[in-house]
Amino acid sequence: MSALYQRVAFIGLGLIASSMAHAIRRAGLADNMTGTARSPETRAVAAEIALVDQVCDTAAEAVAGADLVVLCVPVGAMAEVAREIAPHLAQGVTITDVGSVKQAVIDAVAPHLPDHAHFIPGHPLAGTEHSGPRSGFAELFDNRWCILTPPEGADPAALDRLSRFWRGLGANVDLMDAPHHDLVLAVTSHTPHLIAYTMVGVADDLRRVTDSEVIKYSAAGFRDFTRIAASDPVMWRDVFLNNKDATLEILGRFTEELFALQRAIRQGDGDLLHAYFTRTRAIRRGIIEAGQDTDAPDFGRAKTKKTS
Ligand code: NAP
Repeated sequence: MSALYQRVAFIGLGLIASSMAHAIRRAGLADNMTGTARSPETRAVAAEIALVDQVCDTAAEAVAGADLVVLCVPVGAMAEVAREIAPHLAQGVTITDVGSVKQAVIDAVAPHLPDHAHFIPGHPLAGTEHSGPRSGFAELFDNRWCILTPPEGADPAALDRLSRFWRGLGANVDLMDAPHHDLVLAVTSHTPHLIAYTMVGVADDLRRVTDSEVIKYSAAGFRDFTRIAASDPVMWRDVFLNNKDATLEILGRFTEELFALQRAIRQGDGDLLHAYFTRTRAIRRGIIEAGQDTDAPDFGRAKTKKTS
């Protein structure tokens, strides 16, 4: 594929930015990449592994001359970053972000941007529990969805170019309005993360099951909660603080269903439990049929070879 942008600038050089940089190189989507991160340590690592063509000390330097700027910082840091880069943006630049919440990012970023910039927020639905510039890999977005939430009146050419860019990174692209995105993600990502955090917290609190037993028998289900609960604390703190209403709505529904199942267990209502689990099994099948997961018993994890 030929380059869609002359210069792509990353603000933040963690998992998502580094995966995008690798995927951009894989597909030849940009002539040049710049990037910056808050700490000198992260910038030094990015320079050492030549993640982008030029690692800059400031966001202002990084965005100079860029025709695409990608904000890859935690949601709570977006406003500050937008304020910092605004005076240095090139004419006609497209600004996008990868934040896991959309309406709060729009409210935080849009007021700072000059009229000549096209702001098209985005969210790739792909990630791992790892962070930092070394954690990225080119395949992260392959066959995953990227949701763009263009504001009303967004420039059609800028939107088309950004959509083609995400497809070039391997993703499928969908458009949504920001509030709907936030509700969908509260169901599919944010609330499940909170439940995983809670479950791991509960196991940690239980004194009748020892730590070594929890670890030894974790493959029975707990292990998958621990993977999710190992996700970056800053990122997830910001997600809940910034998608408060939708998450609270889904959590309310979750609590009601949990009480219903609790009552069915207490009353020995096997029919209710069976019907419930049959319905949830069909949802799992739908996810596999849509190519969003594998039905391998280990969820497609590479088997670790035992050496002893
Ligand atoms: P990450 O690996 O932790 O990297 C975050 C980057 O942001 C780092 O370069 C960090 O710089 C910088 N940063 C942190 N706080 C900052 C601040 N206050 N001001 C300026 N820069 C700051 O994070 P990530 O997983 O790539 O996530 C980035 C964004 O992608 C988040 O908005 C997240 O919601 C979204 N997202 C994440 C996932 C996922 O699964 N991880 C999936 C989809 C979308 P230092 O290293 O110097 O601290």
